[in-house]
Amino acid sequence: MDQKLITVTSPLLPDLEEFHELLKEIWDSKWITNNGSFHKKLEAALAGYLKVPYVSLFTNGTLPLITALQALRITGEVITTPYSFVATTHALWWNGIKPVFVDIEPETGDIDPNKIEAAITPKTTAIMPVHVYGKPCKVKEIQEIADKYGLKVIYDAAHAFGVEVNGESILNAGDMSTLSFHATKVYNTIEGGAMIMHDELTKRRIDYLKNFGFKGETEVIAPGINSKMDEMRSAYGLLNLKQVDAAIEARHQVAIKYREALKDVEGISYWNDMPGVKHNYSYFPIFVDANKYGMTRDELYFKMKEQNIFGRRYFYPLICDFSTYKGLPSSTRENLPNAYKMADTVICLPMHHALSKEDINLILDCIIKR
Ligand SMILES: *Cc1c(COP(=O)(O)O)cnc(C)c1O
Repeated sequence: MDQKLITVTSPLLPDLEEFHELLKEIWDSKWITNNGSFHKKLEAALAGYLKVPYVSLFTNGTLPLITALQALRITGEVITTPYSFVATTHALWWNGIKPVFVDIEPETGDIDPNKIEAAITPKTTAIMPVHVYGKPCKVKEIQEIADKYGLKVIYDAAHAFGVEVNGESILNAGDMSTLSFHATKVYNTIEGGAMIMHDELTKRRIDYLKNFGFKGETEVIAPGINSKMDEMRSAYGLLNLKQVDAAIEARHQVAIKYREALKDVEGISYWNDMPGVKHNYSYFPIFVDANKYGMTRDELYFKMKEQNIFGRRYFYPLICDFSTYKGLPSSTRENLPNAYKMADTVICLPMHHALSKEDINLILDCIIKR
């Protein structure tokens, strides 16, 4: 008998009939990419939903990171976190920038502001933190350091769609923030992404850069890239935006069930909501203390797999542990004790809008009955 797979995530899909209606409009218009009407509508709708002044859509979440670094003319060294998806550091590499890894806080998984100053050198030009799992970074402390040393701050906010602190979008922090709308994220456009900026001039410049640097028909202002989102995915994104709140609330309910059931399980810990923060429940990481739990993280991870429960060890290995980055001076265990510990103990449990009560019970049974 085939047992159903429980995957770590499941894409939020728009209603097919509704999508078909919009596709018909696109077919009729014969305008399929290059800042068409759905692209414009989605940029405006996202700015409203996210409570940010300007949004520029991209074809994925990696290119806005690369483009942000180019637009701000970042060079030399950039301080960043090793506890993220590999694209964060790849964006630096693609710009010929040397990544300098700084350790994370055990309470949030985000870069530890107290350890940033010690990593600054005369070559440092920017800080690139990540709101990992959508947990907001200490943006005030990070900005103070940036202002003191004249550094730019670019947030990889790929996980932080809709996250607010005291009613304000976390995406307004720093010089720019970037989002990913990949199929695995809380809000998706299949593949897709965006950059958030504070002023119209920057928005205009970014819009040129994502279209080869074209300003008008005959002028190219810089060696830009092609990173435009097309009309199909913009239309799909408009439909998904209508249902993302319900999806986030469904995820919230999953988090509540996980927390309730796991609160007395010796050796398993997790995070609670942070005061004043509107979370998006994008991930549900648990941390395994092998001595107390009686099983290592990997033992639990593979046991879950045998039962067709596919959690993910996000973020193991650390970015600094991949061969490209391993040789960097900042990549050592001594420099990054909290990051290595988290990477060695974490499992992200399945978390999405369509998890059934039965699925949740199977997952919890697998963890609790050992
Ligand atoms: C998903 C993700 C990205 C890359 O986004 P893509 O849309 O897949 O290119 C970048 N950073 C982080 C932290 C991510 O999770």
